Amino acid sequence: MRIDVLTIFPQYLAPLELSLIGKAQRDGLLDVRVHDLREFAHDRHRTVDDTPYGGGAGMVMKPEPWAAALDALVAPAKGSAVAVASASASATPLLIVPGPAGRPFTQAFAAELATRPWLAFACGRYEGIDERVYEYAADDLGLRVEVVSLGDYVLNGGEVAVLAMVEAIARLVPGVVGNAESLVEESHSDGLLEYPVYTKPASWRGRDVPPVLLGGDHGRIAAWRRERSIERTVARRPDLLPAAALTGLPSDDVEG
Ligand code: SAM
Repeated sequence: MRIDVLTIFPQYLAPLELSLIGKAQRDGLLDVRVHDLREFAHDRHRTVDDTPYGGGAGMVMKPEPWAAALDALVAPAKGSAVAVASASASATPLLIVPGPAGRPFTQAFAAELATRPWLAFACGRYEGIDERVYEYAADDLGLRVEVVSLGDYVLNGGEVAVLAMVEAIARLVPGVVGNAESLVEESHSDGLLEYPVYTKPASWRGRDVPPVLLGGDHGRIAAWRRERSIERTVARRPDLLPAAALTGLPSDDVEG
């Protein structure tokens, strides 16, 4: 999978070199390219922002550097962005613009994005990006554009959102996480929160691991975990329950 990130703070994306995502790049599973938006601002001060039309506080990111950067991304050889407007979807990236006014980022959406061969992320700053850039990307470059929110709060810029999204997406790309089974039982994979987990020692500071986990009966362990998942989801995230596949409701016959 290829991932391009456009930002005025390329160094913000340095953590993508670390841990599993860094290893996936070195293994050739991911091709992450970070671009400095200011390289596409051609005035003396490499200006990327200006005052908002209509007044108000803050600055807005100018359309010209964004258009130049997107042109370079999708039509590097052809020299004309319009020339690729009819190119096939796999030859162009899906453009993700992080923003608090976007579609919520979920595990299901991450899984969908993990199947794409090419994603590009446009990191906004200030009050955001001139709205015409979205139209240009869709209409003139032929890109699918998705504004995506990390949650109902406001960050200073898109970079932290991109770090979170890339990590969530990339770990679903086959081969990135060594043990694929570990992806199956995680929170949100079946619509529920994950059950509590324990490791050695079995007894620690007066607290014991639930006995069912020590017995080796895989059927009872699975039932116990399912019950704890449901309990935890009811307690912490009842909003998830209507969409969750609720089979195996708690019974009284499993000790814990
Ligand atoms: N004026 C914008 C609004 O109210 O919708 C907020 C702009 S915010 C200060 C600057 C940038 O941070 C946004 O363009 C976006 O890239 C990023 N950002 C802020 N909150 C975000 C969130 N919840 N999810 C994803 N990106 C976010």
